Amino acid sequence: MNSSVIGKIEKAKRYAQERERMHLTSFSVDFKGENDDHKVSFSDDKWHCSCDFFAGYGVCAHTMALERVLEGMLPVAAVSHALERA
Ligand SMILES: [Zn+2]
Repeated sequence: MNSSVIGKIEKAKRYAQERERMHLTSFSVDFKGENDDHKVSFSDDKWHCSCDFFAGYGVCAHTMALERVLEGMLPVAAVSHALERA
């Protein structure tokens, strides 16, 4: 393999361990819940989920699960305080 590609692979491995380098700005996720499928999206530092619980509380198991998966890459303003207490 080309030595410059090998160098990039090594750098990618290091970057993958340094999540704070990556700042997520917007994305959408099809989330398969226990009872139903949900659409979760994130933009402008705000979450949205199509589930009923989110409509009432502004946070839900789906957004909190994604906060855990994406730990270190979300804006501080977008991380729910529920995670700090749990
Ligand atoms: Zn939800």
